[in-house]
Amino acid sequence: MVPVTIVTGAGSGIGRAVSERLEADGIRVARADVGFAASEGLNFRLDVSDETAAGAVFERIEAEFGPVAGLVNCAGISCAGSLADVPLAAWDRAMDVNLRGTAVMCQAALHRMMPRKSGAIVNIGSTFGLMARNACVAYAVSKAAVIHLTKCLAVDLAENGVRVNCVCPGMIETAMTQRLFEPAAKALYEGNAKAHALRRTGSPEEVADVVAFLLSDGARFMTGAVVPVDGGYTSGKWV
Ligand code: NAP
Repeated sequence: MVPVTIVTGAGSGIGRAVSERLEADGIRVARADVGFAASEGLNFRLDVSDETAAGAVFERIEAEFGPVAGLVNCAGISCAGSLADVPLAAWDRAMDVNLRGTAVMCQAALHRMMPRKSGAIVNIGSTFGLMARNACVAYAVSKAAVIHLTKCLAVDLAENGVRVNCVCPGMIETAMTQRLFEPAAKALYEGNAKAHALRRTGSPEEVADVVAFLLSDGARFMTGAVVPVDGGYTSGKWV
């Protein structure tokens, strides 16, 4: 049976671009997304924060298609607001999906990868997890935790032959950020674009290229790495 790489959040944006890029490279991809209408073939309707459902997806993939050799955790939600005004239910959901969901998927993967002494995981963090950004505290804290989760996993799993890395995108045009790309938000968009040293926002494909490299054997000496794909957003401030 051919090894499979699972991509979560594969129905949209970065997850979709990652799935397409990996398939173009000849990798067998299982797509998981809460927005899929149903599970069919290698497409799975899955809420990543539901560990029972996640375990069932891993079992089905391994029984019907092949061993899970790779995992890319793209599923995520935004959450606006400072701590003064974010509803705690929204805080909890951001943590559930962004942090717990990533941990749930990593745990199911590592239970299978560790005995085989082989596997590669890429988590999607954010520049907001590296640098504070106003009015998105729950999202930013969840992404900071994903970055640290990655490092903890890298240290724990290295002797088992499993590599875990994290990609931190800058602003990428997807459904999550769509409102910033609308004509009415032109000034806001331009302010955000200028915050990136390269003076522009990025595409999902530009993130997918780096994810594909981190999964590949070319990155065999990389684990616990936190890689900004952010046009220089976290490198410094241009005034
Ligand atoms: P997107 O286009 O909204 O894609 C996210 C996908 O994840 C959607 O299909 C969404 O489904 C799915 N999803 C949400 N909750 C889920 C859950 N509980 N279980 C499974 N799937 C779930 O957003 P994106 O920009 O590609 O984001 C991908 C990742 O990149 C996220 O982790 C995000 O935080 C991160 N990121 C994005 C940017 C950016 O500028 N776009 C920057 C830094 C980091 P529904 O649409 O049905 O909810």
